[in-house]
Amino acid sequence: MRTHLLRFVFLSFFLPVAALQAQTLHPGADACRHTRLNYFGRLAAHPAARIKYPGDAGIDVTYYKLDLNITYTPNFLRGAVTVGLKSAADNLTRFFLDLSDAMQVDSVLAGGRKLTFSRQPDQLLIETPQPLAKGQGLAVTVYYKGIPGSTGLGSFAFATHGSQNQPVIWSLSEPYGARDWFPCKDSPADKADSSDVWITAPRTFVSVSNGRLERVLDNPDSTTRTYHWRNRYPIANYLISVAMSNYALYEQVYKPAQGDSMPVTHYIYPEALTENVRRTLGQTTNMLTFFSDYFGPYPFLKEKYGHAQFGWGGGMEHQTISSMGGFNTGIIAHELAHQWFGDKITCRTWEHIWLNEGFASYAEALYQEAIGGTPAYRAYMAAEMTDARRAKGSLYVRDLTDVDNIFDSYRTYSKGSVVVHMLRWVVGDQKFREILRTYMASPLAYGTATTEDFAAIASTVYGQSLDYFFKEWIYGENYPTYRATWSSSPAAGSAPYRVQVTISQTTGTANPAFFTMPLPIQVKTDAGDTLLTVFNDRQSQTFELAVKGRPTELVIDPENRILKQVQDVTQVVTGLNDPVAVTALTVTPNPVSDRLTLRIDAAQPFSGRLSLLNPAGQEVASLPEQSFTTGRHTVSWTVGQLAAGRYLVSLSTGDRRLTKAVILTK
Ligand SMILES: [Zn+2]
Repeated sequence: MRTHLLRFVFLSFFLPVAALQAQTLHPGADACRHTRLNYFGRLAAHPAARIKYPGDAGIDVTYYKLDLNITYTPNFLRGAVTVGLKSAADNLTRFFLDLSDAMQVDSVLAGGRKLTFSRQPDQLLIETPQPLAKGQGLAVTVYYKGIPGSTGLGSFAFATHGSQNQPVIWSLSEPYGARDWFPCKDSPADKADSSDVWITAPRTFVSVSNGRLERVLDNPDSTTRTYHWRNRYPIANYLISVAMSNYALYEQVYKPAQGDSMPVTHYIYPEALTENVRRTLGQTTNMLTFFSDYFGPYPFLKEKYGHAQFGWGGGMEHQTISSMGGFNTGIIAHELAHQWFGDKITCRTWEHIWLNEGFASYAEALYQEAIGGTPAYRAYMAAEMTDARRAKGSLYVRDLTDVDNIFDSYRTYSKGSVVVHMLRWVVGDQKFREILRTYMASPLAYGTATTEDFAAIASTVYGQSLDYFFKEWIYGENYPTYRATWSSSPAAGSAPYRVQVTISQTTGTANPAFFTMPLPIQVKTDAGDTLLTVFNDRQSQTFELAVKGRPTELVIDPENRILKQVQDVTQVVTGLNDPVAVTALTVTPNPVSDRLTLRIDAAQPFSGRLSLLNPAGQEVASLPEQSFTTGRHTVSWTVGQLAAGRYLVSLSTGDRRLTKAVILTK
């Protein structure tokens, strides 16, 4: 699912531009968040129902057949839903299905026999015809009717589109909304082996659902038409959908490297199917090729992939048929990637939703990388990191009662995708692909997974334990803020200079107190730059690096591999017998446009000289030498007259020197 529609519209225009553009994207994203909050506002009206989760543990669902009769005038649904199940308990005499109180149940049948049933809040209790042994099967058909309510993200909607107010009807069940319109076991953990959806509606409707279209029947009443959609892949109940309107059909064919070709069907409002939208939708087959190559074959090759337009401001990855509020590259890639991450392998519980959303969001970056190269990928990830730094709490969702919390965009989406980006950095490109393909081909395929399932596969493929990574990034909170102090000295041998760097980090939390990560460090020297990686596994740690020239600057993680902040990088240039007088030099603001404020902490009196050096180490401005007493000093310095660029602020005392990098902007 994706709600950040506006953001991705902007991204498609701004993609080649650098990370600074990220800020301009936020107003759009925020507007969407507000829209979403309005949906959640409705949730408050139904507090009791939403936290009954995860369904009846006494049954294991094997099959759903939804036979639905739906009208727009009046808004109404009449259904006969058959649930195939096996008893998961010995001597099962009754069980419940989740079904909203708004739906009135007329009867429940099994093998032509009426069963006794009763209602509990948002549940339908059914007595079995005879006690069921563990593993024994039963198929019950529930006859019910009503006006489906709309909870969560808007689980069932009767709406209109276009200037003619054409009716459109759709479902969006994730996470707890399926019970609003059909009796089910409302849990992603229990997938049915297959499903059928029959939709009977007035002939103005094209009715769309999961799997292959088996048949379209014009009924003898001469006013209604029945669509039968057949799905023979395992499916989670929340991925079963209906979408109905006066759709126009735009068809493509996907030809996989091996196997038969597959239809790609776009059901679009007639007035929305412009040349531009056709072109945008046309990317779907390219994406199918790209993702199949990256993740393994498209999971539902024997059926289809497609889109059905709906009136919700985002997209939803219904199995083989994503529901879409609009069309742009990002959201098409996102929902398509969900067919692997979410539909083929489904998060077993909503606590592990990042296994769906983190990977689908990251897949957008992968596709950007495929079409726009590394700069497009980095721009995308820089924007995701800006959002991810606003994430609160752990990626593992600790409060499932609030839909807004499960689908928090900063955490579940942005931090989720950034964590996948960091995993790729930790294991390397080749192992990363291998991990994803192994996961998709594992026994988890067409089933469900937890973080631990994925972590076990990642560690096995990588060849060493990645437990530290998942522990800190999935179950931990926040991200590291790094500080570095460094000095250099000439060395003997092939590397002419030796750099000693002390990295320390704070996290603002005890969970974790520090992040263990391979940390890239770039050392700029007068003989070229060196990029090295240290394995940083302590809160404060000193590393020795060998570089090829006289070092001028040190940069932490220049390619943005890690979700982090870098607070301070200080160079200490020291002579042999010089006492340590200055304990801190801070420079604000940074970047600066006019006036710098320097703060100097002195452990003992000293006299020193402040100067500004260009990247070549040449002095371009200076202040007269001055005396400092013990304690804190503040020095103001107007530098706006200099050209924009990178500079080093230098404080020299005796033969000891401290420098701070500063960026001057205009
Ligand atoms: Zn999603």
